Amino acid sequence: MPTLFTRIVNREIPAKIVYEDDQCLAFEDIAPKAPTHVLLIPKKEIASLNSLAAEDAALLGHMMLVVQKLARDLGVAEGGYRLIANTGADGGQTVDHLHFHLLGGRALDWPPG
Ligand code: 5GP
Repeated sequence: MPTLFTRIVNREIPAKIVYEDDQCLAFEDIAPKAPTHVLLIPKKEIASLNSLAAEDAALLGHMMLVVQKLARDLGVAEGGYRLIANTGADGGQTVDHLHFHLLGGRALDWPPG
């Protein structure tokens, strides 16, 4: 059973895609919490940070460079932004497919709720 986010990768569920390459996909969050709110996911189905394996190290490194590019392209690199990976129940994770929230475009509160 493909995850919700794999269904977005496969274009079975529409999304506003802002970046794609062979390893990952970025699209606008359906319920944005900031003027810029994009989700970056690996195309590989990894449930959460808890499921990462050593073989995923290059993929994750690649994704961090994509974050840098996205922040620049979305116009938040200079002003600043936040990258979040909610993990597990206490972390508030609701979709079991690893994803990074890239939030920006306003001053973000700290600490989060
Ligand atoms: P989590 O709560 O797991 O950290 O984040 C899941 C995110 O996925 C939420 O911010 C939620 O708004 C977003 N989301 C859930 N379903 C969809 C969808 O069908 N399309 C898009 N673009 N975002 C979704």
